[in-house]
Amino acid sequence: MKGKGSIGLADRIRNLPPYLFASIDRMKAEALSKGVDLIDMSIGDPDIPTPRHIVKKMKEAVERPENHRYPSYEGMFSFRKAVAEWYKKRFGVTLNPDNEVISLIGSKEGIGHLPLAFINPGDYSLVPSPAYPVYSIATLFAGGRGHIMPLLKENNFLPDLGAIPMGVIKKAKLMFLNYPNNPTTATATREFFKEVVDFAMRNNIVVCHDAAYSEIYFGKKRPLSFLQIPGARDVGIEFHSLSKTYNMTGWRIGFAVGNARLLAGLGKIKTNLDSGVFQAIQEAGIEALRTKGSDLDVLRRIYQERRDVFCRGLRSAGLGVYKPEATFYVWVEVPKGFDSTGFVAHLLKNAGVLATPGNGFGKAGEGYVRFALTITIERIEEAVERIRRVV
Ligand SMILES: *Cc1c(COP(=O)(O)O)cnc(C)c1O
Repeated sequence: MKGKGSIGLADRIRNLPPYLFASIDRMKAEALSKGVDLIDMSIGDPDIPTPRHIVKKMKEAVERPENHRYPSYEGMFSFRKAVAEWYKKRFGVTLNPDNEVISLIGSKEGIGHLPLAFINPGDYSLVPSPAYPVYSIATLFAGGRGHIMPLLKENNFLPDLGAIPMGVIKKAKLMFLNYPNNPTTATATREFFKEVVDFAMRNNIVVCHDAAYSEIYFGKKRPLSFLQIPGARDVGIEFHSLSKTYNMTGWRIGFAVGNARLLAGLGKIKTNLDSGVFQAIQEAGIEALRTKGSDLDVLRRIYQERRDVFCRGLRSAGLGVYKPEATFYVWVEVPKGFDSTGFVAHLLKNAGVLATPGNGFGKAGEGYVRFALTITIERIEEAVERIRRVV
């Protein structure tokens, strides 16, 4: 019989890259235990509560017994229809709610499961760096390999498709993209998306576009849906989240839309792993998707004001700041003499301000730090004052 000590973790989790935030977490805990008045700008989790009308709808929906039973894995038809209506209104894209929309238990769930539907052992996913870590980890969990597409400043933080080796392209099944981008805050151009559709068609690659921040924008030009590009529906699916747009990170609801055959692949994985989103949450989700545009304008103005105060402050302190056109993050160049982790440690120790080191999102994030604008304007002003004194 095997002894207790021989029970080991599976290679797929034992071989995960080291947790880069571990040392930061330790420093954070230490600062808090010393009673430091910490300004935490490291986490992209909205501080503003879910709008009242959505909470009210949830309260009503949770009372109804028909909502207490197993939901369908692909989502209630009424929810999928609300998604299709939202898409039509926001992007001018027509979706069939029967097979071109699927509900998700948060978009992370769908992104995390997608490679199981498309990756065979040894296949590649094309993964941007820096990026949301789930793309590469989910690829590894499915037995695949991630090929890094660096997002560089000189390319406006868009991947250079021409730099991907032919040998990799031949074995690539998936490409992950995310615009507006976390962490660099870059947005995609129509030309770039056209290039992606062309590339994916020529090479038979599934495009998986993560559009979690499509509604957090500040300029006149609203971020694009990948599906607005002709041909995109033949090669791709797009992930959306209600988390950031409607301050619903804790509720766990999102959706994927696009190519019906590809969504059916994801759906097949899901039928075997989960049983859908609690119907009361889907009803609240429908209510969320029908939020008035003017309410979202108010939300965007709040982030915009925070952005303006923070960027102005850091620039006057001499830091290299990319003023974001979208997302609630600010991507900042680390000053000379520091690396990402060193600068985060310096700010934490000497200013009591916590940012996320860029290298935590992948090697190409080295030399940057990310701040999240998910704190009040008063705290942002305080953070600026403190940072100014130590750079
Ligand atoms: C927050 C975030 C998500 C996940 O959102 P959920 O719907 O809450 O799972 C996905 N992608 C990116 C880039 C994010 O920042």
